[in-house]
Amino acid sequence: MLRLIDHDDVTQLHFSTRSSRAMGYAVSAYVTRGVLIDTGFPHAGRDLEGWLDGTRPGGAIVTHAHEDHAGNIDPLVRRGVPVQLAAETEAMVRAPRPIGWYRRVCWGTASPLREPIGPFLHPALQLMPAPGHSPDHHVVWDAERETVFGGDLFIGVKVRIAHPGQDVRGEVRSLKAVLALGPKRFFDAHRGVLEHPREQLGAKVAWMEETIGEIERLAAGGWSDRAIRNAVLGREDSTAWVSGGDYARINLVRGVLQERG
Ligand SMILES: [Zn+2]
Repeated sequence: MLRLIDHDDVTQLHFSTRSSRAMGYAVSAYVTRGVLIDTGFPHAGRDLEGWLDGTRPGGAIVTHAHEDHAGNIDPLVRRGVPVQLAAETEAMVRAPRPIGWYRRVCWGTASPLREPIGPFLHPALQLMPAPGHSPDHHVVWDAERETVFGGDLFIGVKVRIAHPGQDVRGEVRSLKAVLALGPKRFFDAHRGVLEHPREQLGAKVAWMEETIGEIERLAAGGWSDRAIRNAVLGREDSTAWVSGGDYARINLVRGVLQERG
């Protein structure tokens, strides 16, 4: 299902399917200045194709290679839409790694991109590295309109779950770099448009720094990873076991402690 939501000069393309909604997930792509930012997930491919039948974007920008953002790059490229994306993102969409069944059911599996990509650059839209959520994660900054298209940089103030190997301190650095831009508007791939974006980004930085500090303090006291998780983040909820550990609180603890060395 595709819902179009207008935000003045920005259109939100809100994608979901029955299975993604049942799992509590949806994702949004955005159109600004005639440019599509992100492409939705493979199971939403028909919805995106239907939209493309009526609208031809001047180009597209992909924030990172996760299948809910880069999942439909293939139909765009086949239609001749030029795409801007980082070299490491392109490498991953050409040779996607296998994903767990939870992500396959929720989002679908992207087929590897084989066609050459037409290059694209928009003078007002800057693809800015913001690693942490994933090594190839970027945001799109529109300086003139003081607007950020944040991909998965934000998601929420207190996000207690993480992927295995997530770069937690990298996330904090990226949040601070985006906050320093002083954005007036922030469009999040999962939360839509943020009210008071600078306050929300600042609150996330504060919560993450406090959480990292707590995890370090307990680890220095000899606590086990699990005991730290239970004390700082709480026990796992159903997401952790349903996802086979792909999205789990323990990953946040391990992410913080692995990075120290
Ligand atoms: Zn992501």
